Amino acid sequence: MKIVDANDLPAATTLNADICIIGAGAAGITLASELDGTSYTVCLVEGGGYGPDEETQALYDLEVAGHAVRDNFMSRARYFGGTCNIWAGRSMRLSRLDITPREWIPESGWPIPYEELAQYYPPASRILKLPSFDTFEQVVLRQRMSPAERRLFDNPDLQPNISLWAKKPLRFGAAYRQQLQKSRNISLCLHANVTEIQLNRAGNRVEECTAMTLSGKTLRLKAKHFVLACGGLETARLLLVSRAVHPQGIGNQFDMVGRYYMDHPRAVFGKVRLLRPQKLPLLLGLPLVDGIAQVGIQFSEAVQRRERLLNHYLSLERHWSEQAAKSYQSFVHSMKILLRKGYAGKRFNLSGANLAKVPELIYLLAPRELMPHVLYSTARRLKQRLSKGVTELIVVNYCEQMPNPQSRVYLSEKRDQFNMPRLVLDWQLRPEETHSLLRLQALLDTYLRQQQLGYLDTTPEPFSERLYTDASHHIGTTHMSTDPRQGVVNAQCQVHGVDNLFIAGSAVFPTSGHANPTLTIVALAIRLAEHFKGMRY
Ligand SMILES: Cc1cc2nc3c(=O)[nH]c(=O)nc-3n(C[C@H](O)[C@H](O)[C@H](O)COP(=O)(O)OP(=O)(O)OC[C@H]3O[C@@H](n4cnc5c(N)ncnc54)[C@H](O)[C@@H]3O)c2cc1C
Repeated sequence: MKIVDANDLPAATTLNADICIIGAGAAGITLASELDGTSYTVCLVEGGGYGPDEETQALYDLEVAGHAVRDNFMSRARYFGGTCNIWAGRSMRLSRLDITPREWIPESGWPIPYEELAQYYPPASRILKLPSFDTFEQVVLRQRMSPAERRLFDNPDLQPNISLWAKKPLRFGAAYRQQLQKSRNISLCLHANVTEIQLNRAGNRVEECTAMTLSGKTLRLKAKHFVLACGGLETARLLLVSRAVHPQGIGNQFDMVGRYYMDHPRAVFGKVRLLRPQKLPLLLGLPLVDGIAQVGIQFSEAVQRRERLLNHYLSLERHWSEQAAKSYQSFVHSMKILLRKGYAGKRFNLSGANLAKVPELIYLLAPRELMPHVLYSTARRLKQRLSKGVTELIVVNYCEQMPNPQSRVYLSEKRDQFNMPRLVLDWQLRPEETHSLLRLQALLDTYLRQQQLGYLDTTPEPFSERLYTDASHHIGTTHMSTDPRQGVVNAQCQVHGVDNLFIAGSAVFPTSGHANPTLTIVALAIRLAEHFKGMRY
């Protein structure tokens, strides 16, 4: 691969390729590596360099108008490898129900059959170096469930769901840098921030994109096809700011760009109190040879249909004392800085956050990154074997959101260093989300009591929307629909009305479903690569 730093190029350079991918995160790197060795020339354009820097990161600053997002918490990383430089690595598959039209959820349903999406999960899992979902589901789940776990799931309303982690969260930048370097048809341009997409006069093809460096250089990017892979917020921003031909922005003739913004609201609420110490190996996280698995508690499909619920789930986590959580957090933070593992610069500072109440510790995952997996998993297995079991657990609730056009991003009056309008994030929550959360909790309490395992304690305060935090999942701003009036991209992730412009990433998801997005982002990027491979010109 030819690697260039845009800062070193002569002024007004034009880069040419068959396919220009903008953004080198999980989506962009997957797409590029899948196109490695094909007859296409591919140019991967990245705004940042190989590591975090404050000035580039500041290009992402936005205004918050709706529900608060985590204060002092970086939810995107603007450098090679993207936000997966700091992600936690929890990987989940969307279920068939997640992408099926559900008449109780307006505007639900994806325009692609589940079988088609599902066929990309195994290769996506390989890219993320995950243990096998099928083996876990068909073998481990049955064999390793403890008697208490079996009793808890022995009812028609609750079912287990699966999260898998690789031995270490995949850092795309580090993992794919070498493979891409060896490629003969891919080139990478760093420090090139795309600021505008230029259409032809008819407004139905991208002619070129403009990219700028913080040192003041301007580049032109020319290609037969362009893919926006800048994450769910920045992709919408680029479409909205490109107003030379369509005054309302690209793909926005029906005012759909930026709308239907979704995340997975998380709330730490409720404690499970067990009557006797119980071993819950799957619910608390099971070390595997090639990673970790954790089972969550989800509604069955039957109860969702019957009671018109969203596809929420909850996970049970060990209880940490405030002191233990604080010490752990500062240790992890220092180690990350020292070893540059999942490090994102000074901004990724959680010291102001009230972590003791929130087991955000999952995001830090340091022991897994700091020691070899065999050691880590042996230690955990040993701990599980020696432990007499747990009696108190924290409940972390994860919510699917209702697609809602009022939940959105739009352009602000304020501008960034390139004079590009910044974004306003107006994240909206709906009462249906809290209703489903409380219903899931009620069912959990019912079955804990029915099985004489224990109960759910929701004292001392009732649930409040203030408990919701975001999960840094930026979903839905350019969602898929076969009808241009209902969405921004078609089922192939091509922007409606613009023949050669595609989008890779969670911006295209029509519903958030229950699952964390990255596995599906990677699956859809492989699917998009297949689409290009099947094209002839
Ligand atoms: C702390 C944290 C924990 C997370 N944990 C999980 C988890 O456990 N499981 C899960 O599924 N997801 C998790 N996520 C979300 C996950 O990180 C994202 O879903 C994923 O990284 C999105 O990948 P992407 O390639 O679409 O976007 P990004 O990774 O954000 O990549 C976008 C890339 O585009 C570049 N770029 C942006 N704008 C421009 C521009 N104008 N010009 C050129 N380049 C540009 C950026 O520099 C970046 O490299 C987590 C996120 C955070 C912050």
